[in-house]
Amino acid sequence: MTATSPQQNPPIIRPDKDRFLGEENPFEAMMSRFDYAAQRLSLDPGLYKVLRRPEKQVTVSVPFQRDNGETDVYTGYRVLYNTSRGPAKGGIRFDLNVTLDEVTALAAWMTWKCAVVNIPFGGSKGGVVCDPADLSDRELERVTRRYTSAIIETLGPDSDVPAPDVNTNERVMAWIMDTYSMHKRHTVTAVVTGKPVQMGGSLGRREATGRGCMIVTKQALQRLKLPVQGTRVVVQGFGNVGSVAAQLMAREGMRVMAVSDKSGGIYNEKGLDIDDVLRYVREHRLLAGYPGAQAITNDELLVLDTDVLVPAALENVITSHNAGNVKAKLICEGANGPTTANADRILDEKGVFVIPDILANAGGVTVSYFEWVQDRGGYFWDEDTVNQRLERIMTESFDQVAGMAAKHGVTPRIGAYMLAIERVALVHKLRGMYA
Ligand code: NAD
Repeated sequence: MTATSPQQNPPIIRPDKDRFLGEENPFEAMMSRFDYAAQRLSLDPGLYKVLRRPEKQVTVSVPFQRDNGETDVYTGYRVLYNTSRGPAKGGIRFDLNVTLDEVTALAAWMTWKCAVVNIPFGGSKGGVVCDPADLSDRELERVTRRYTSAIIETLGPDSDVPAPDVNTNERVMAWIMDTYSMHKRHTVTAVVTGKPVQMGGSLGRREATGRGCMIVTKQALQRLKLPVQGTRVVVQGFGNVGSVAAQLMAREGMRVMAVSDKSGGIYNEKGLDIDDVLRYVREHRLLAGYPGAQAITNDELLVLDTDVLVPAALENVITSHNAGNVKAKLICEGANGPTTANADRILDEKGVFVIPDILANAGGVTVSYFEWVQDRGGYFWDEDTVNQRLERIMTESFDQVAGMAAKHGVTPRIGAYMLAIERVALVHKLRGMYA
């Protein structure tokens, strides 16, 4: 294992309107929002330097044997961005596009997300540069186990707790948990979250992110003095986040008029029967061909006449090119980074209320925290308890973000960053500098 040294001190950036560029890169956009929020908080320059850098970056080689006996070597990363508030928390992705810079930015993102919902975690992320489609099941298991043992010093319920991310799932988490436990000579369930429920996973985890979106959307509607019943909703993405958000919003009485996936969108002005759409997708895998609704493109979906828009698929879908045409009064960012910084400005000028990703989709990491708590206590909660506790955290966090935004006259996004930075910075101040 080699620990590469973090980059040089970045210059302290004094943000102004023109800093909100970099439309193509969601991570630069995230850090520019961080910079702006830090400036609005008048963050101590020393603390700014600390919070602008990752604590630890680990780069490892992952040699493994192919089924045909040949040896291949992949590269893996694990980055702990900040652990001042508690163990690092963040997913592991297996993807050809994984880079150290991207993993570092995603680890920073996790730091702010955990702080916004005030759970006692820092932020981390990891990845292996590989194409999982190029691996058999046995090869995937060997890569997972070798990567786990290569980063084992960083892992642990008290230090760094991975979760699923792009191209990893509960089966991969089970292998990580088993490998870690074999090294420790006893079973350690709390080392990962997103595990199968039968081996220490939490009830309600699968639905948690979409449920969180529903909860904060209801609160924002109340704030905008819009009713829940009959409110028109469109959702981009019909995977884990989008399908659950659509289903739960429909159950609350909202009129979900359109949903989409990578095959395109479906639209019915009177409202879709989401349970029926889910049945269709279970059978046909994709939305394309769903009867009883009009086919639309993903681009058309984003600018439909609606009250609520939930982008829950990809980053960078609301940009300076289409933000001016967005008709929604409220956007709930189920996906990470769906709105570019330039689009933010346009939406703000139009008076669109944006529930930012680091709040809107934090339901997932919140129930991951519950999973870790349950594993450590060895006592498991029923689903109602999970959902009630999730609702309390999401509701309180929404109010705190909105309060921060109102107090400083900034957007909810900047308010969320200010809240997160304030919380992380306060712990640094209280702990002091170990010299
Ligand atoms: P998923 O893979 O389950 O679903 C993704 C959906 O997006 C699918 O329906 C897919 O068809 C659709 N999609 C893909 N390409 C598309 C395109 N070009 N246009 C429109 N739709 C497209 O993923 P997910 O877990 O639902 O995650 C969605 C987003 O939410 C990601 O940004 C992810 O990082 C974020 N997120 C997920 C969680 C979680 O708990 N799953 C938590 C926080 C954030």
